Amino acid sequence: YTQEVLAQAHLPADTLDGHSVAVGANMEMAEEVGSILSYGAESIGLYRTEFLYVTRRDFPGEEELLENFKTVVTRMEGRPVTIRTLDLGGDKFASHMEGSLTAENNPALGLRAIRFCLKEKDLFKAQLRAILRASALGRVRIMFPLISGVGELLEAKEVLEEVEAELEQKGQEYDKNLEVGIMVEVPSAVTVADMLAKHVDYFSIGTNDLIQYSLAIDRINEHVAHLYQPLHPAVLRMIQQVVESGHAVGIPVAMCGEMAGDQRVVPLLLGLGLDYLSVNALAVPRVKQVVRLTSKETWRQLAKEALSFPTAAQVREFINGKLAKHI
Ligand code: PEP
Ligand code: MG
Repeated sequence: YTQEVLAQAHLPADTLDGHSVAVGANMEMAEEVGSILSYGAESIGLYRTEFLYVTRRDFPGEEELLENFKTVVTRMEGRPVTIRTLDLGGDKFASHMEGSLTAENNPALGLRAIRFCLKEKDLFKAQLRAILRASALGRVRIMFPLISGVGELLEAKEVLEEVEAELEQKGQEYDKNLEVGIMVEVPSAVTVADMLAKHVDYFSIGTNDLIQYSLAIDRINEHVAHLYQPLHPAVLRMIQQVVESGHAVGIPVAMCGEMAGDQRVVPLLLGLGLDYLSVNALAVPRVKQVVRLTSKETWRQLAKEALSFPTAAQVREFINGKLAKHI
């Protein structure tokens, strides 16, 4: 990036017709906060907490997690911090878990993320306690990964309420208005997004997994990497459905999958109505630049037309043609 682009990255990203688009960053370690801010991120849209668990032989306890979250929240100085609860399993393993999680034949379809947490309640509750306690110090949002339907969401929220009651009893402070959201990354969650929307404060679409599960393409298998198509019409329709379901009850819809950081896809995503994007810190200045290039109305038209193509290749060709003048 040039100095000029970096300087602009610290300004809000407004469209030509005056709509502000919030651009946040994804991160994996507390140490990244400095660089995230230097690239102009306005929030942390996804704090993947797995790193705290996979690099060691035991699990971190509540106090250790709290220290970590406190550091992040304090350094963000009032900007929103979305902490995702543990997403272990799938392609995210802890070395000492061999023999349990790693023994699965299909780990991506196995005891992963929220499923693992609902089974290991003590571990889940320790993390929730730490997140809640950190929320007393700034603007924390909680996010549950891999939610597949309302039953599972309510089960997770019940554990959260138990933890809140415990903190209340002990007189420990937390943000009573803390926002609770979910990642929409399982196709079943898309199908029942209207039902899920009634129980959360926001949605965040996780396209990395949503593409994997809906197109049946292992996200880390190089043999099928060419079939991993973010612009597949099925993926675009799912995004549209989630946005409409969220907006129908007035909750914002974000995207935190890798797809959100592709500058040539950003106008399409905004045209589909996404409210926030959370991307790798490095992509933040680029995404903000793209937002400033055009107006919301142009995006809406672009998205509408893009949805009419039957193949990912045609969608890609169409948006590349439209953006050629700009990017
Ligand atoms: C996703 O699935 O799109 C996502 C952001 O989460 P992760 O890559 O950590 O699974
Ligand atoms: Mg995911």
